Amino acid sequence: MAFESLTDRLQQAFKGLKKKGKVTEADVREMMREIRLALLEADVNFKVVKDFTKRVSERAVGEEVLESLTPDQQIIKIVNEELTATLGEEAVPLNKSPKIPTIVMMVGLQGAGKTTFAGKLANFLKENEKARPLMIAGDVYRPAAIEQLKVIGQQLDVPVFDMGTEVSPVEIVRQGLEQAYQNKNDYVFIDTAGRLHVDEVLMDELSQIKALAQPNDILLVVDAMTGQDAVNVADSFNKQLDITGVVVTKLDGDTRGGAALSIRAVTGKPIKFVGTGEKLTDIEVFHPDRMANRILGMGDILTLVEKAQKDYDEKKAEELATKMKENTFDFNDFIEQLDQVMGMGPLEDLIKMIPGMNNVPGLDQLQIDPKDVERKKAIIYSMTPAERENPDLLSPSRRRRIAAGSGNSVVEVNRMIKQFNESRKMMQQMTKGKMPKGMDQMFG
Ligand code: GDP
Repeated sequence: MAFESLTDRLQQAFKGLKKKGKVTEADVREMMREIRLALLEADVNFKVVKDFTKRVSERAVGEEVLESLTPDQQIIKIVNEELTATLGEEAVPLNKSPKIPTIVMMVGLQGAGKTTFAGKLANFLKENEKARPLMIAGDVYRPAAIEQLKVIGQQLDVPVFDMGTEVSPVEIVRQGLEQAYQNKNDYVFIDTAGRLHVDEVLMDELSQIKALAQPNDILLVVDAMTGQDAVNVADSFNKQLDITGVVVTKLDGDTRGGAALSIRAVTGKPIKFVGTGEKLTDIEVFHPDRMANRILGMGDILTLVEKAQKDYDEKKAEELATKMKENTFDFNDFIEQLDQVMGMGPLEDLIKMIPGMNNVPGLDQLQIDPKDVERKKAIIYSMTPAERENPDLLSPSRRRRIAAGSGNSVVEVNRMIKQFNESRKMMQQMTKGKMPKGMDQMFG
């Protein structure tokens, strides 16, 4: 995930401060030197680093901070605020047109993730606003691009307007828009061609499409993994097309995060969304404050809650809470839980969103093995419905039968049932408002 190494380095820098009772100006200077290096190593634009460290230093050596009882915490708060400011303060939503359709044009270099992002955004708006988008296939230079967009459209049940590769993109967009007006689509996403580098012919064509479509948003899609190149690309697209926002894709593959941290400051244009994986559901609204919290290893509980809410059926959640309290949580519920959690993405990423969990030793080694999940499910499926509902029925002979039926050893079956009983006990304690043993230490 993005920012991993930066988070580690920043925490090292803060640790230096925490060790001291009294913090002096020299301590702050030493910490700032480390933060500066950490940001440069994370591939943040050097000018952005300079401005950032200057702002933090000026505020951090102020008397109120150094004389306060908790100078280290005050300084972390300042770093957090200035990081948020660098990333853009507030989340900036799509520019909506007062009358339909809202037209969004995607631009960017080849391979940045435009076509994929068009699909992600269509899916996101369908889910959140019940939108009825139309996607226009305007990339006539890469024949596979049209096919790719059509496949995505089919997957999402979103119509795609295309005229093959023989018609000019401007004409395709003109006719596509006509269709959108006729069909009363509320959003139109225009997928445009990319090149390997910024070139004039491409910019001319994009300017013509812009003049014709008068989009409400021109979103530049950049690949986070290209680091400072992404920032340069953003700068030149912005100068030529006056973009309205940026989408940073492949944040999942970039451990440094320099592009995401620099783009706003260099171009003055907000990051509106980020792409966090290849799946069409791997899209997040970009919240600068939450991202700053994540970078500082403070977690991102709001995104976690939103993810959970989106993937969760509220009525189910209530039923589950009652079951936990009454200790009637059974193996059927357990399977449902396993599927839900697996559907939410890699568990280690989710856990890091919980404040304080970034520092827990050994988290990096925490991997959920899908095979292990499948094994647990196989064991449960080998139980009779009565056994699934009432785990107390599981006598040794029943356990032997289940082991044979699911192709596991009795030891494995016993271990699974033991884990289940323990988590059941823990859930009951938690719903009664007590922190289970062990957890209280984790949260300090
Ligand atoms: P385009 O040429 O700009 O239209 O780029 P594509 O949409 O074809 O994307 C290029 C490649 O990047 C594809 O293999 C996508 O699956 C992949 N991709 C796009 N967005 C993301 C993302 O957020 N994370 C990851 N890991 N891969 C992505």
